[in-house]
Amino acid sequence: MTGRRILVTGGAGFLGSHLCERLLKTAGNEIICVDNFFSGQRRNIERLQSNANFELLRHDVTHPLFVEVDEIYNLACPASPIHYQLDPVQTTKASVLGAINMLGLAKRLKAPIFQASTSEVYGDPVVHPQPESYWGNVNPLGLRACYDEGKRCAETLFFDYHRQHRLKIKVVRIFNTYGPRMHVKDGRVVSNFIIQALRGEPITIYGDGNQTRSFCYVDDLIEGFLAMMNSADEVTGPINIGNPGEFTIRQLAELVIDLTGSKSTLVFEQLPSDDPKQRRPDITIAKQSLGWSPKVSLQEGLVRTIAYFEEVLKSRR
Ligand code: NAD
Ligand code: UDP
Ligand code: UDP
Repeated sequence: MTGRRILVTGGAGFLGSHLCERLLKTAGNEIICVDNFFSGQRRNIERLQSNANFELLRHDVTHPLFVEVDEIYNLACPASPIHYQLDPVQTTKASVLGAINMLGLAKRLKAPIFQASTSEVYGDPVVHPQPESYWGNVNPLGLRACYDEGKRCAETLFFDYHRQHRLKIKVVRIFNTYGPRMHVKDGRVVSNFIIQALRGEPITIYGDGNQTRSFCYVDDLIEGFLAMMNSADEVTGPINIGNPGEFTIRQLAELVIDLTGSKSTLVFEQLPSDDPKQRRPDITIAKQSLGWSPKVSLQEGLVRTIAYFEEVLKSRR
């Protein structure tokens, strides 16, 4: 395949920067990375900026964007509960107005468009594991609603543009993903626990730690993104992308302590409202339609992520 011009929104974020880097590995690809730096970091894309096929544009996707590209990956939206609850109105706007603008762009260009949706569309799920056919259990009024309902509305827009304007859409529902380049202040559980363990600080478990999550290593996830974008036109999604290995938050804390050799103790803090009790992807469809499944175990992924944060913390001393 010849090179393509590819727009990545949210490209300076954790997942976006890995996606840009991966796409640049295909000879001839040109990347336009759009980000407003709300939760992204320059250092994530520092190494890419010397590449002549990489271009950075500071822009907020809630405003229209006119560029010429062959395909679009829409990732712009803060993803950590701490970040998306800082300015909840802006979070809904990033998902909803961002989707409208990027879909308008895709419509004008007749370009395929990928949406980074989320397992949060299932809310606090009563069906376990979660298949794509499950409609979810979301509190529309709670602290997480700006993110959950924003992402649900974005999915609605994607499917209406698909039906109404025949857009080629690619919607994936991402389950908890971790790895190098998460922000030190990201606030999500894997980076929090690793940083606390490396600093010898208490590990903050919210609630009793019996709630579960399924953790996917970033490299696996990005391969899933590419498989989705390169799938046949009729594959629209939504498709769950994640690692079905399920762990309690307490198990995660113990594993991180073990792998870092830390002397950190566990402290139990208040559980935030609407915190989902269980989460695990059913990835049958990803396996069947994309031939994709994750390869990296939690232990292996944590070792790589710990090595990254050791370097980051060393450089800050
Ligand atoms: P992140 O916060 O590191 O990245 C999001 C990026 O989007 C940041 O660089 C941020 O500055 C940028 N951004 C935010 N609002 C913007 C706007 N209005 N205009 C332009 N840029 C904007 O988070 P991430 O983990 O890399 O998540 C990327 C995407 O994947 C998000 O859409 C998120 O909802 C989705 N997702 C991630 C996970 C996960 O576990 N990492 C899970 C489910 C869904
Ligand atoms: N849009 C954009 N870039 C484009 C084309 C459209 O940002 O290249 C925006 C446009 O400003 C509009 C949105 O996308 O607000 C939706 O476009 P669409 O054509 O679907 O709707 P309309 O312009 O008819 O409202
Ligand atoms: N969590 C925790 N300690 C932390 C950060 C998070 O116990 O320092 C818990 C959180 O309450 C949730 C789980 O870990 O039950 C995953 O949280 P995260 O913010 O990473 O993602 P999400 O809740 O969106 O899945």
